[in-house]
Amino acid sequence: MVPLLKTHLYLFLGTVACSTTSDYYQQLIAQKTGDALSYVLPKNNEEFKTGFKSPIDEYGQYDVVVVGAGSAGSVLATRLSEIDKISILLIEAGGEENDFNQIPAMWLYHQFSELNWGYYTTPQKHSCLAMTNRQCVVPRGKVIGGSSSINGVMYVRGNCKDYDHWAALGNRGWSCKDVLPYFKKSENSQVEGDKNYHGIGGFWNIEYGLPSSPLFDNFVNGSLERKQSFGDYNGENQTGSAKFQTNTKRGRRQSLGTAFLNNARKRSNLKVVTKALVTKITTDQRSKQATGVEFVTQNRKFLVRARQEVIISAGAINTPQLLMLSGIGPREHLTEMKIPLIADLPVGQNLIEHPLLNLIFRTNYTEPNATLENLVERYLNGLGPLTKGGSADGTGFIHTKNNSQVPSIQIAFAPPNAIDPSISRRSLNYNNTISETFLKNIKPESDILIYVMLLHEKERSNFTKLKQPD
Ligand SMILES: Cc1cc2nc3c(=O)[nH]c(=O)nc-3n(C[C@H](O)[C@H](O)[C@H](O)COP(=O)(O)OP(=O)(O)OC[C@H]3O[C@@H](n4cnc5c(N)ncnc54)[C@H](O)[C@@H]3O)c2cc1C
Repeated sequence: MVPLLKTHLYLFLGTVACSTTSDYYQQLIAQKTGDALSYVLPKNNEEFKTGFKSPIDEYGQYDVVVVGAGSAGSVLATRLSEIDKISILLIEAGGEENDFNQIPAMWLYHQFSELNWGYYTTPQKHSCLAMTNRQCVVPRGKVIGGSSSINGVMYVRGNCKDYDHWAALGNRGWSCKDVLPYFKKSENSQVEGDKNYHGIGGFWNIEYGLPSSPLFDNFVNGSLERKQSFGDYNGENQTGSAKFQTNTKRGRRQSLGTAFLNNARKRSNLKVVTKALVTKITTDQRSKQATGVEFVTQNRKFLVRARQEVIISAGAINTPQLLMLSGIGPREHLTEMKIPLIADLPVGQNLIEHPLLNLIFRTNYTEPNATLENLVERYLNGLGPLTKGGSADGTGFIHTKNNSQVPSIQIAFAPPNAIDPSISRRSLNYNNTISETFLKNIKPESDILIYVMLLHEKERSNFTKLKQPD
């Protein structure tokens, strides 16, 4: 948050205040973007290594223990704490959000700060060919709000048919009809979309990023020429092009931490511990039920017991890691790692990513130069490029072979000045050749970027074959 003094100046001193708040943000952006270029990502969990020899300290008992205050954990802990008689402990490895991570357009810079776990893939044989050592980045949020505090804030709920497919596979409660009421309950949607598919009055603000680049009209017209509709991809019909709906409020990021957890934290039945790493789920030898977790924080190791439930919402990478560290995973791999087996289960064997391809086009349009001061002034009014989620204006969902309502690819349109060559190299881990031949030739003020994302790729990763962090 902006220090209180500055907020007061802003409120009471009109123009003087405006420039003071603006100065603060200009300095913040200059400092944080500079720091990101030399930030060294952690290679392990050294920061939590305690070196203690004493027995584990007791942390008491709660009805429910939730691990990870990311997207899922923030919502779960908030909703559970609405029931007064349930006591909840929420344990998060990262710290608090800050003013810089609220700026959507700075999303790539957050990956080079303490807000990111800092993962890379192992060197790949058939993919990540443009990357140093053939390793792609795997950013994951390590902060209240988790990955929703560092992501591209593009609000895309997914296609109804995908949910129905999950339900058909035996996952009760996951059909589109089942999940839609919860989406609507969460939302405070400002978009002019399909009324039956959006909620108003919920915790999570959804709005359009404004204003769009003049080139966005060309993107939409191109789509219309191809007989595709323009509309609401979170509505009944997902295909066609659309303005991006973003998880922002007047242009500032609305992580799930900000939208949900921050209010719930005032409740006496919810305790949130930050900068605490859960290292093991404890289980009852006989029943094999989870009984609590062990965690380390401030040079001490604790055991906390759960009377009713332990919820692991540590994200797509850390949840399987924690399960396996606790003896829940494939027998062969746990034996190899010398971890006593609790349950032989195929944990971590179905990791799916959405591959993304960047296409850059040079246009005959040149975006007028804007000073940082001007950008910040517009941001403080909820406008302009700094408010842009994933730096993009719009998106399109297309089936490449037919007119199916279930798209096979998603494209996104990012206008001139969305590409920032200084951070692009680090954020994608481009190798020297790509940086010299490709990045150096980018003209940010004229070039537009089209991201192409596969939505139903066949490739699956086997987590147990990846190198685990220490
Ligand atoms: C760079 C980036 C851009 C993205 N862009 C978009 C987008 O524009 N739109 C979109 O819809 N999605 C986007 N996503 C994906 C989206 O943010 C994630 O799918 C979502 O946030 C995952 O939620 P989660 O609760 O599963 O995990 P997370 O939100 O990652 O939460 C996991 C939490 O658990 C904590 N944790 C992990 N291990 C431990 C431990 N051992 N002890 C204690 N705490 C632990 C982590 O620190 C973290 O806070 C993006 C993701 C990234 C990284």
